[in-house]
Amino acid sequence: MEIPEKFATLGLTYDDVLLMPGYSDLAPSDIDTTSRLTREINLRVPLISAAMDTVTESRMAIAMARQGGIGVLHRNLSIEDQAYQVDLVKRTQTGIISNPVTIGPDATLEQLDKLAGEYRISGFPVVDVDQKLIGIITNRDLRFTPVAEWATTKVNEVMTSRDLITGPSEISREEATKLLRQHKLERLPLIDADGRITGLITVKDFVKSEQFPDASKDAQGRLLVGAAIGYFGDAWERATTLIDAGVDVLVADTAHGNVRMLIDMVHRLKTDPATKHVQVIGGNVATKEGAQSFVDAGADAVKVGVGPGSICTTRVVTGVGVPQISAVYEASLACKPADVPVIADGGLRYSGEIGKAIVAGADTVMLGSMLAGTEETPGDLVLMNGKQFKAYRGMGSMGAMSSRGKKSFSKDRYFQAEVTDDDMIVPEGVEGQVAYKGALATVAHQLTGGLHQTMFYVGARTIPELQEKGRFMRITSASLKESHPHDVQVTAEAPNYHV
Ligand code: 5GP
Repeated sequence: MEIPEKFATLGLTYDDVLLMPGYSDLAPSDIDTTSRLTREINLRVPLISAAMDTVTESRMAIAMARQGGIGVLHRNLSIEDQAYQVDLVKRTQTGIISNPVTIGPDATLEQLDKLAGEYRISGFPVVDVDQKLIGIITNRDLRFTPVAEWATTKVNEVMTSRDLITGPSEISREEATKLLRQHKLERLPLIDADGRITGLITVKDFVKSEQFPDASKDAQGRLLVGAAIGYFGDAWERATTLIDAGVDVLVADTAHGNVRMLIDMVHRLKTDPATKHVQVIGGNVATKEGAQSFVDAGADAVKVGVGPGSICTTRVVTGVGVPQISAVYEASLACKPADVPVIADGGLRYSGEIGKAIVAGADTVMLGSMLAGTEETPGDLVLMNGKQFKAYRGMGSMGAMSSRGKKSFSKDRYFQAEVTDDDMIVPEGVEGQVAYKGALATVAHQLTGGLHQTMFYVGARTIPELQEKGRFMRITSASLKESHPHDVQVTAEAPNYHV
């Protein structure tokens, strides 16, 4: 009997390598961090927030897209709740709101107030049954009606309907700005030739879209958003409901993606006429063969990472995994020839590792712990010994997988969809907390700033150039020690380096 070869090559991860400096004649303004998220979507900033219930809900997804990255909404939510979050992102801060929330003339002010709270907006176009615009109602119109009368007062009694200023559906930015200025408007409804509402422009959104020049947007100017899906049970229903809600990218969210059922699902999503227009990311894999399966199934990108995550215990619980730099490189061997982008998911701790992941073959990186301490994550601040923290837990942790009075949707990520008794769960992650870091914008600035510097040192103007020019040197544990601050007692942490 022939004994099969048992040992793959040595696996390397972020701490095992450093990038070699190269000749550079670049000015800071030359550097462009635009990269490919999927076959059809580019991001100005190659950062993705992880699909975890302590990282990405609508608030984080909005903040990520405004910064030029993207957020992937987690799926420890009912289908309706996750789709609702997609909707919240798609309606936020856009030049033009293409599908504005409207209200009918017979609704009461109480109903209006409820809707305003739900969508966090302060004004609505009023439309009749044919969607024809008949008025507009804002907070200002409510001011003169005592709250006690809201339940009995109808929208058409207080709305503004005379001399409505509107614009045509295909209005340009310049024309819209002119109208808003000329009439000192807060809102400009857009209508078609028959007077039906087709869009809404708000001054606030116009100003914001200037504040976020790198924002990730779809063809209609709406923020981009991703959402996680699985492959068990009602996964198809979840995928199609998310598509109906306007999701841009569906992200297969499973710890081990090289699985027949998931590969079939990706194939179906990319061939069914009703779903194939949506970008689909396959994952997670950590080998060339795993990546190839998704490339063959038609995936628009492949996500890489088995066990590198900060909260992850897969490698110790199962003994399975591939060190992340090697995993990304291996996956890229299948993806690059097919022109399919690669995402390096998990295990990043410093901005310098974004460049390392890109040189290994990634186009973008997905971050959990590095973003978990920001203001925009779900969950409250925790105060401990005078310091502020935010909770961060693995989606394979007991906390995320146990029912604790509610249905858990993340168990199938870890092949345990059928486990009904919490005591029988085999966790592959832990629960913890990370230091509070303030606004995402500040953290994102440090991360992209770090990547800029990487590109300067390597002499790469663009991400493809970084992938092509970058070379690694393997280092020893003595070199790693040299890389970090040493032989000093750090008295002031830097915003991008914590002891
Ligand atoms: P981090 O950026 O914190 O190092 O890693 C985040 C990534 O870890 C996520 O995007 C996801 O792929 C992975 N992950 C999240 N929760 C768990 C878990 O409980 N177990 C495992 N194996 N991986 C997890």
